[in-house]
Amino acid sequence: MSAINKIHVAKFKDKAKSLHRAVKANDATALRRIAPYFNNVSEFKLTQAQLVIARELRCSSWRELVSNDDWVQCSFCKKWQYEVKNLVAGPDVYVCDECIEFCSGIIRDNLDDGQHAHA
Ligand SMILES: [Zn+2]
Repeated sequence: MSAINKIHVAKFKDKAKSLHRAVKANDATALRRIAPYFNNVSEFKLTQAQLVIARELRCSSWRELVSNDDWVQCSFCKKWQYEVKNLVAGPDVYVCDECIEFCSGIIRDNLDDGQHAHA
C-alpha cells in the first residue's frame, strides 16, 4: 500500500465510522443514505457502513474502494474527488463544485461592480 493510499484509506475509515455512529444515533440524513442498501437499522454494523461509503463512491465493495489508487484532486483547493460532490476535468486539471461556486461568486461580484461604475 502506497503512502498516499494509506491517507485515502484512513479518510474512508473515518467516513464509515461517522456514518455508523450517525445511524446508531438515528440521524435522519444518515438513515436516508443507508436506506437504498439496508433496512435493518438496529443491527447496522460498521462493515455495512463501509459498504455504503464504497457504493456512494461508485465502488462495488469496500475492498475495491481501499485498493483504488486512481483518485484525483481539485487543482485549486486540493480536495480529493471523494471529498466533494463534483469534479470537472480539463486537460491535466480538475476543478471541484466548491471552487466553481466560489469563482462564480467572484465573477458575479465583478459584474455587479462594473454595472455600478456605469450607473
Ligand atoms: Zn476545489
